[in-house]
Amino acid sequence: MQLQIQPIYLITLISKFGPVPVSRLYIPVITILILFCILCLYSIRNLHEKNKRLYLYSDLTLLPNKNSLLKFFKENHKTSIHDISLLYIDIDNFRYINQTEGHEFGSQVLLEVSKRLALLAKPNGRVYHLSGDEFVIIYNNPSETGLGEVMAAYIQAGFKKSFDISDKELYINISIGVVERPAENMTIQQMLEAAEVAMYRAKETGKNKYALYDITMSRTLAERTSIIKHMRHAIEQNEFEIHYQPQLDLFFDRIDGFEALLRWNSKELGWVAPDQFIKAAEATQLIVPLGAWVIRNACAFLKKLDDMGYSPLNMSVNVSIIQLMQDDFVPTVQDTLEFLELSPENLELEITESLLMESFDLVMPKLEELRKIGVRIALDDFGTGYSSLSYLSQIPITTLKLDKSFINKIGTKEEGLIESILHMCKRLNLCTVAEGVEKNSQIPILKEMGCHKIQGYLFSKPLTEEGIINLLQTAPTLVDDIYLLDSQNKQRK
Ligand code: C2E
Ligand code: MG
Ligand code: MG
Repeated sequence: MQLQIQPIYLITLISKFGPVPVSRLYIPVITILILFCILCLYSIRNLHEKNKRLYLYSDLTLLPNKNSLLKFFKENHKTSIHDISLLYIDIDNFRYINQTEGHEFGSQVLLEVSKRLALLAKPNGRVYHLSGDEFVIIYNNPSETGLGEVMAAYIQAGFKKSFDISDKELYINISIGVVERPAENMTIQQMLEAAEVAMYRAKETGKNKYALYDITMSRTLAERTSIIKHMRHAIEQNEFEIHYQPQLDLFFDRIDGFEALLRWNSKELGWVAPDQFIKAAEATQLIVPLGAWVIRNACAFLKKLDDMGYSPLNMSVNVSIIQLMQDDFVPTVQDTLEFLELSPENLELEITESLLMESFDLVMPKLEELRKIGVRIALDDFGTGYSSLSYLSQIPITTLKLDKSFINKIGTKEEGLIESILHMCKRLNLCTVAEGVEKNSQIPILKEMGCHKIQGYLFSKPLTEEGIINLLQTAPTLVDDIYLLDSQNKQRK
């Protein structure tokens, strides 16, 4: 605020009251100046307080932040931290909540979560809001070694109750990394990093879990960081390729199509397993361009086979939920099919069961859109995750892929379970594929049970484009000849 005394006012004053002694004239001016200075000092102090608050507390949740946490340990000379347990908490799928419901709703979620954490941590835990959707709780733990784990289980149980946010009933899950009374030479910063690593492990094992830190986890993190670093340039440097694993139709006794499986031969790291790099690609969103590249190339290969006269064949491509979440995912798939003049029915997109369950509401509309344009949808790895049968009739899938772990039950007393699932799929009009078929003995049983297709090392490992063309030219197509194929396969390996 600026205070200006114009000379014209002074002249008016003088003309109205006649000549005034200079000292009397200055009194109100000086008073105003003093008041002005007080006001300025007050604002400066307020600003300083606000900055201090912002430096030490979260603006949104008002909880102490990471600076507060570090300051606390510094001021209390807590160089040795072996008598505390630390919980590193992250909200599952928060990014999706933000993406679909908007940032304002996301902020409400953070606020409600912070309140619930503060309540659950009482009376011994100190809660900190690190950043975004990450929180930390610290417990003094002088003697009870398992306290951190007990509290992690307790806090997770506290999230079973739903949240009421903007008139919506919302279930929020959290993943927790626990560091329990660490070695004496660990600093608080290292303890935070270790807990974060454990939290990521909890996420990888299916989310909504807690994991206790151990040293081997850090090695995994270092590997992952290196994968991410090298993957960024791998597409431009043509380090990725696609291998194709044939699927055999048990009824028509012929190769029916292929599953496209991504391979990465890194110049620096050598061959990296898909299970490792796909997760890293998902974490960094690199899966979006990479996944689009796979769809384009797999479809182009299908077109090539079509042009060579090997039709009708089908192509299955694995897609990640991050790809599905992109606004342009369905139009891009449609454009690719139109450009190559492929029939949408010959493309099948595979999604995994655990991912579908986790983000059911978000994924459903996309799946319905894909079905509308005629693309087929397979539920992959069935039997590894939740395996809930009740939702199978509610999702717009066309195919169910029974995981290898399920197929391995053939010949055991759990075989009946496979039969019931296949029976139910028949009633739901779903195509069924048995994955990881490695034994001859499994074929007649699967055929008898009504399974439509098989895929596995028994017939063929994933092959290069050239390998597939060779196979189509030379391999017998009759499944009854699988025994013959088995021996050919052994020669090929
Ligand atoms: P998936 O989609 O379930 O693929 C089947 C996996 O089982 C493949 O592993 C395949 O090589 C392996 N397999 C096939 N037959 C047999 C068998 O008889 N015995 C055994 N032990 N294994 C068999 P791969 O290629 O290592 O891929 C692993 C996973 O990585 C895939 O599992 C899929 O979830 C993911 N993946 C691969 N390519 C892509 C991709 O382009 N995009 C995405 N999002 N995920 C991909
Ligand atoms: Mg698959
Ligand atoms: Mg699978």
